[in-house]
Amino acid sequence: MCKKFLWVQTTVKRIIQNEAYTGTLVNHKTVTSKIYKTVDVIPPEEQYRHENFMPAIIDKETFEQAQILLESRLKNHARAKFGSVIHRYCGMIKCAECGASLIAKKRTVAGHSWVEYTCNSNHRYGNEYCTAHTICEPQLDEIIHTELAMLRQEILDSSQKYDEIVKDWNKKKPKYDKMIKEYSQKIVTLNGQIEELIMERIGDRKHAKVYNSMIEKREAEIAELTQKIEDCRKFDELSKKRCDELMSTAELLDEVLLEPYISDTNIRLLVRKINVHENEDGSLDVNLEFNGDFKDSSTVCFEINE
Ligand SMILES: [Zn+2]
Repeated sequence: MCKKFLWVQTTVKRIIQNEAYTGTLVNHKTVTSKIYKTVDVIPPEEQYRHENFMPAIIDKETFEQAQILLESRLKNHARAKFGSVIHRYCGMIKCAECGASLIAKKRTVAGHSWVEYTCNSNHRYGNEYCTAHTICEPQLDEIIHTELAMLRQEILDSSQKYDEIVKDWNKKKPKYDKMIKEYSQKIVTLNGQIEELIMERIGDRKHAKVYNSMIEKREAEIAELTQKIEDCRKFDELSKKRCDELMSTAELLDEVLLEPYISDTNIRLLVRKINVHENEDGSLDVNLEFNGDFKDSSTVCFEINE
């Protein structure tokens, strides 16, 4: 095949997985021993990476999305016949009754064509093994769009919480700034006292012990104040981090939902699994499982509210 075609799957896969296209040069990937005639693969953390080594022709985000998609295809066993496309929901849509994948079929009736998904057990072995569970792609698109819109609504509802966090932070910030200032001034005063005590101790050797304990007391106070300052600063940092996290989650969903048609890439990035359950009366229940990263980032963000 390689002799016949310039482009084969492996050629394309190697290009997709080669970081060089993002401008990063990676060296020391393998070590060849001339004596033992072996080639050892070096783990990624020991390889030499040179970011921005050459002009990038693919941005990092696109590159990473491609890696996630490749991985998810592998995990879902999403395949297509040579020369045909992998369907939008291929590999991620499962039969809730028998656990088999729903396979895509293209239908054309009176010049109108669409893709529908059917339980593979039913397709292969017939009605005795499992019911059809047939669902059309446009129906799935609609369900997912509705679900994501609901998720967005949840975020919008939670935005009140988000507003509170920001307001709270803005309210508390001057207070914390003032506290940090006060503590710092106290430390300066204490340091001054310590210096005086040291001078006095030189002149009054007999009572050195008394001076020592006075100095120690002040030193302990300084340590305590330093800790307090750090706590105040950390509150500041944490609040900022929370705001940023909330912003990015909201922005991500807005971006996805503003498109009139959710791209195949975004579908695969957001949805991990679709379970289709067929009821006795032939109606279907569709259950969506979102990807951990995405769901977690939204729930985690809204839970962190004191
Ligand atoms: Zn089934």
